[in-house]
Amino acid sequence: MLDKKIARIGVLTSGGDAPGMNAAIRAVARTAAAHGIQCLGIRRGYNGLINGDVTELGPQNVAGIVTRGGTILYTARCPEFMTEAGLQKGVDSCRYLGIDGLVAIGGDGTFRGALALAAHGVPTIGVPGTIDNDIGCTHYSIGFDTACNTAIACIDKLRDTMQSHERCSVVEVMGRNAGHLAVYVGIAVGATAILVPEKEVEFETDVIEKMRSARIHGRNHSIIIVAEGVGRATDIGHRILEETGMDPRVTILGHIQRGGSPTARDRVTASRMGVYAVETLLEGRSNRVVCIRNGEMCDHDIEEALTMKRDLQESMYRTALALTSV
Ligand code: ADP
Repeated sequence: MLDKKIARIGVLTSGGDAPGMNAAIRAVARTAAAHGIQCLGIRRGYNGLINGDVTELGPQNVAGIVTRGGTILYTARCPEFMTEAGLQKGVDSCRYLGIDGLVAIGGDGTFRGALALAAHGVPTIGVPGTIDNDIGCTHYSIGFDTACNTAIACIDKLRDTMQSHERCSVVEVMGRNAGHLAVYVGIAVGATAILVPEKEVEFETDVIEKMRSARIHGRNHSIIIVAEGVGRATDIGHRILEETGMDPRVTILGHIQRGGSPTARDRVTASRMGVYAVETLLEGRSNRVVCIRNGEMCDHDIEEALTMKRDLQESMYRTALALTSV
């Protein structure tokens, strides 16, 4: 519990960026202003905290950013913050700048930083932002929906040309450890096969047989969606060539999936999370991660949140299997 009144809060974005982070920053700044609290934007994640690189975020400074991808505060990794000396600099900075509470928008790494600060007496709130949607305590993380829609728009275009040339396309989507994006995108684009890191890949059954089946059923082209954690899409392409004689076109969507104007879902979720984060601090609660479960806002202890993994939803995966089986 906080034992003093909050007069000034800080907000930062850290780790990998995600569309909708700006909407969250805006919501934090506007909610702070509505309660007569000053809001400082901390630039480049925990680097900005260590270096005192901050800017005041009044309601006007965040005007017009709800539509913008990326983050106006920039984001960066900060290895120094993971050392005791770096962390101490961050804690000293909070004292010097008069930051009574911090909202940290990002993924697991960002929450580990927030937890470390909390252990040194700085009240923190984590807001989940990652296109991987793999944060365990929440059903949804900011950026996932936009990333899905960006990938879908690209793959729909690829499909047109694959269809014309009766080709196979192997498309790598982001997801080093999590296949949520691959499964959603795969279902939405009508993929022939979907490969995710959570499931062991049996190449013959999971790729080749599905391609054959698609052909037998009259489909003249194939789209294979691969989450990056499964392995290199080019290797999968080579293997398809070896086993079928078809020469697939390999596309790695890469960082394009991180950008773009956020969808309605990301703008609204990020706004709700930003408001909730500040309200939680004002209630005197801290060291929490803001979550959304079954459409309702709630919060979870940061330390416990970090032990939770968001598994691939089995029912979703079964849907993907059902739709790629013939
Ligand atoms: P994400 O938030 O997307 O998971 P990272 O894992 O890169 O991204 O973490 C972002 C930043 O959080 C790191 O560069 C570092 O500054 C901070 N951080 C991560 N782990 C810790 C830790 N154990 N202690 C302190 N800070 C950490």
